[in-house]
Amino acid sequence: MEAHSIDNLTITCEKQGADNYIKISYPFRYGKYSEIKLNNYTFQFNLNGEIKTILGRGEGWLDASEWLKRNAGNDWTYFAAGGYTGAYDFTGEYYVPCLPYDSNGIFGHNRFDSPEVARAFASWHQLIDQLSKINKTGIPPKVNNFINRVLLMGPETLEQRAQDLHDIIGGRVSVLPPDTRHVEYDVIPLTIADGCLYNCGFCRVKTGNGFKLREKKDILDQIHQLKRLYDKDSLNYNSIFLGQHDALFAGTDIIEFAARQSYEILELQNSVMKHPKLFLFGSVDSLLRADKSLFEMLNKLSYETFINIGLESADPETLAQIEKPLTGEKVTRAFKQMMAINKKYNKVEISANFLYGTDLPETHMPSILDLTRNQLNHFHSKGTIYFSPLENIGSIQEVKNKFTEFKSLCRMPVYIYLIQRL
Ligand code: SF4
Repeated sequence: MEAHSIDNLTITCEKQGADNYIKISYPFRYGKYSEIKLNNYTFQFNLNGEIKTILGRGEGWLDASEWLKRNAGNDWTYFAAGGYTGAYDFTGEYYVPCLPYDSNGIFGHNRFDSPEVARAFASWHQLIDQLSKINKTGIPPKVNNFINRVLLMGPETLEQRAQDLHDIIGGRVSVLPPDTRHVEYDVIPLTIADGCLYNCGFCRVKTGNGFKLREKKDILDQIHQLKRLYDKDSLNYNSIFLGQHDALFAGTDIIEFAARQSYEILELQNSVMKHPKLFLFGSVDSLLRADKSLFEMLNKLSYETFINIGLESADPETLAQIEKPLTGEKVTRAFKQMMAINKKYNKVEISANFLYGTDLPETHMPSILDLTRNQLNHFHSKGTIYFSPLENIGSIQEVKNKFTEFKSLCRMPVYIYLIQRL
């Protein structure tokens, strides 16, 4: 791993980052990547030569512990680490992902408006221009190949590749499960079923279509196309997101098929990232319908599985207001089922979402506390509760106060759900 100085660039090919995702409060890189340093910026590229992260330093950058990261959907995220006291308490992470599109992010402001971020992007474009003019005489072949790969992956190609990803899986992933924070949102998406069961009135991420299973052949085609698209960089992935909004309702056979085929075809056993993970959403009905065999199957897979269930509220008045066709009694049963599964299966973890908003009935928050405090006789560290903020949440200080009060009473880990797409 030798650094090469060419003009005013310092190029290092195939650096090795950590092989396991950890919670850490400073910029940390995972997997294999190559990097180029230019002035105050460090640009890191994945194994296909696609830009992955930009880190700034010193004058002209916002904070040395903050960075920009690009995902396979060609979205950039600004990871804000400093200046948000208690970020970990609210999100379960030491950084707060700030997104360039409308989300429910309640911390920090839009960094994409700042001149510092605009300058970092301009510097990336300057780098591409400089690389295209570089005198390659005497450059080691490894470095030459890397430069060629970067030049092939210009902004237009990256946009096209994101489009290709969405075409393969049948559209953009409108929301990732909150638990994907455990792998810094680095998941390969695979659609096993479209739509959802309820089409709730309040929901901003739904497709509006009813639930529809994909055929096995379709799933297999997607995996092969994903393998071609992620290409060399699939080596850096160890996690799969089974979409869309209620993959749990797909049932044992399809879930097992998709999980095993993607593990084999994408060669996750060879990933430089250890401890593979499987993420999916489920609903109250899919959780209540799922029998023992489904969880026993999941527990035997090579993955650790995280299932996120949208419970929203256990209060009948709230469920009626948000137009979710469920009863409080059914939500309570699903919550109990979630706790029982978390206790029984060491490789399966179910988390739950509840809504947060100032326009919800007064009976809403007590209904959640009844489940997560009164019905539990001790603290449970497995099975996170996420609060998903609605549009009207009041002042940020008010949210923080209420959240902290709830957290101190709840007998489970509680965090805010930061909605991210892919
Ligand atoms: S909350 Fe879940 S079930 Fe309801 S409409 Fe949205 S995606 Fe569908």
